Amino acid sequence: MIEPGGTIGILGGGQLGRMLAISAAQLGYHVIAFAPEGDAVIAQVCSEYVSADWHDAAALKAFADRCDVITLEFENVPAAPLEAIADKLAPHPRALAIAQDRLAEKRFVADLGGTPAPFHAVDSHSDLLAGIDALGTPAILKTRRDGYDGKGQWRISSREEAEALDLPDAPCILEGFVQFECEFSVILARRADGVVAFWESSENGHEDGILARSTLPAPGIVGAQVNEARKLAKAVADKLGYVGVLTLEFFASKDGPIFNEMAPRTHNSGHWTIEGAATSQFENQVRAICGLPLGDTRRVAPRVTMENVIGPAAATAHEALADPTAHLHLYGKTQAPEGRKMGHITRLEWPEEEPAR
Ligand code: AMP
Repeated sequence: MIEPGGTIGILGGGQLGRMLAISAAQLGYHVIAFAPEGDAVIAQVCSEYVSADWHDAAALKAFADRCDVITLEFENVPAAPLEAIADKLAPHPRALAIAQDRLAEKRFVADLGGTPAPFHAVDSHSDLLAGIDALGTPAILKTRRDGYDGKGQWRISSREEAEALDLPDAPCILEGFVQFECEFSVILARRADGVVAFWESSENGHEDGILARSTLPAPGIVGAQVNEARKLAKAVADKLGYVGVLTLEFFASKDGPIFNEMAPRTHNSGHWTIEGAATSQFENQVRAICGLPLGDTRRVAPRVTMENVIGPAAATAHEALADPTAHLHLYGKTQAPEGRKMGHITRLEWPEEEPAR
């Protein structure tokens, strides 16, 4: 166990790390963050911030020497340099290596009995056409690595469109288009001894490939499919000897839960847990990696919604506080271009006849 007063290292400098650092401080830990040059909003809330390249082995080693445990808030950290500090990392870099590659994660999940969206590896234009012939249209071409929030994705509506498409200069995967009723994710925290806690799954609404809102309780189809999805998420976590918070995203289809992707970290669709659950995803991440008991994950209000604040909307987001059920989180980013996640608003709602206690 790492007792309060110890030092947690966080790889990555974004909002997930920022919210994690706040939870770590609440539990009495020191936080040092490590990230390459950039808008590291974590630096505003942690005791120290090291800005160096992921491949700077000396800087990474010096950072690791000062930490009792190291976790990450960003899954595209190159996995190879992390091998040198793997003994302090939670989760272990093997989880990263799988989650960074859309093809590897789909195969991994399929081997464990899960059902991913139908897929076809694409390394050449002829692979793409073969994939279109096998999966039909519409289909979605995605880069295997480094995509997020709908970036690195192209929707293909016809074979002609595929024929005319210039392939990106990177290995890709073609996915069949899943007809789904809604999207949900399973978020779990796992300790080294195998104890697992799940949060309730929200319905996740996306706009332009970016999460726009999470709503709880989710519709009945999510409730009907969540146990199967949780079983898969637990099998993934157990197989990887996972320590920390792990997220698996699903499409709720008429054929059951279809796996979309996984993230070896806390997740935007779990931000509602800060006010809406007895223990947040960030606090349980800290507890899991430090070997503390996990906290109760139950939802604490009859209805909880989380809405992302994206791009220029950040300038007026504080106006949401006119509604006393709203909790505003702004991530401290100075530039607010279209499509950038700037903050979120969580609302805890009680029906009229049941006043808040
Ligand atoms: P991703 O980055 O893979 O999570 O994709 C972003 C969003 O695009 C998802 O949350 C879905 O709304 C949509 N999407 C991605 N892949 C598929 C698919 N195979 N079928 C249908 N919709 C998809």
